[in-house]
Amino acid sequence: MKIDSILSRALRDWECEFGSTVPPLFLSTAFHRPDCRNDHSGEYYYTRVKNPNRSILENVLAQIESGEVAFAFSSGSAAITAVLQTLSCGDHVIVSQSVYHGTRTILEEIFKRWGLSSTFVDTSFPEVVARSFRENTRVLWLETPGNPMLSICNLSLLSSLARDRGAITVVDNTLATPVLQQPLQLGCDIVVHSLTKSIGGHSDSLGGAVIAARRGEVSEKIQKIQTISGAVLSPFDCWLILRGARTLPLRVRYSATNALKIAQFLSSHPAIEACHYPGLKSHPQYELACQQMRDGFGGIVSFQIVGDANRALKFISRLKSVNHATSFGGVEASIEHRASIEPLGSRVPCNLLRLSVGLDSAEDSIADLETALAE
Ligand SMILES: *Cc1c(COP(=O)(O)O)cnc(C)c1O
Repeated sequence: MKIDSILSRALRDWECEFGSTVPPLFLSTAFHRPDCRNDHSGEYYYTRVKNPNRSILENVLAQIESGEVAFAFSSGSAAITAVLQTLSCGDHVIVSQSVYHGTRTILEEIFKRWGLSSTFVDTSFPEVVARSFRENTRVLWLETPGNPMLSICNLSLLSSLARDRGAITVVDNTLATPVLQQPLQLGCDIVVHSLTKSIGGHSDSLGGAVIAARRGEVSEKIQKIQTISGAVLSPFDCWLILRGARTLPLRVRYSATNALKIAQFLSSHPAIEACHYPGLKSHPQYELACQQMRDGFGGIVSFQIVGDANRALKFISRLKSVNHATSFGGVEASIEHRASIEPLGSRVPCNLLRLSVGLDSAEDSIADLETALAE
């Protein structure tokens, strides 16, 4: 089945005694046990361990990413942390240099103290990645398109490199979403998501997920960490995120179409120093993006204004319809000066702005950008 149909039918198999089209919200933290058996394997008995709303969402997430099993967490950061918690003291991780800044902070400020070492490399260059493996490398952590520079790396090539060296490949697929890119079908082992972004899609719920290509040792560890450590997604957030996810393919494709129009406009404007978008022929990995992604290149355009940070911030203040806020993947167009939010030492250029095009019409957004640039 295509992703559109999986999502549109996502709730149809739900059985409810009242025949409701949409599942109810199961707020109950405990579930009645039919007898005095202590064996509760597979059954609902306590919501941290298993909840019907979470099961429905996890099942759909596994299907749309072509995985065997999925786990929902209270945030994308909790999902990332859970994957890293499967590793041990003395292990090593290779990470995309252009990874979400929170992943870098989690590794450097939490896991480093626990003896997990990490090397950040430019994963656009496979030979650089190949050189970075050590005997104790367990995970290759990729993000493509990378955030916010939108660099691309080769998922099938790099995951096979990692497999040959006994490491698994984890991909943060938040930016592309399974509509545009399917890492597990390209040989990667684990996908993580911030459901807060495009999958939830309405800027009203925080969530995360881990999806494993296969059930096995790693997925069992992740399940244990989820249910024992307890950073689980609440029933209401599961419900809200699934409600949002049902329109994911439409939203993602529409915003990708508009993002390309906006990127084309920006890339030819004299007040723009550089425009980064994988769908532009000028992007250094345009060919690879075409091979690896489908139906578009995502709803985010990053661009550098001619001038400094001050100039970039002034430009934002002149925008009338694009919302000045962090995050991305919501319905509303939003823009952010990344250097202001990322920790000190961030490699993001000081004149870079990241635009999430949302579902606004491209014509209106271009008009807003054009007026602000003219001033
Ligand atoms: C936002 C984001 C995260 C973190 O997710 P939260 O839900 O904010 O914890 C992780 N990865 C990427 C690519 C993100 O954009």
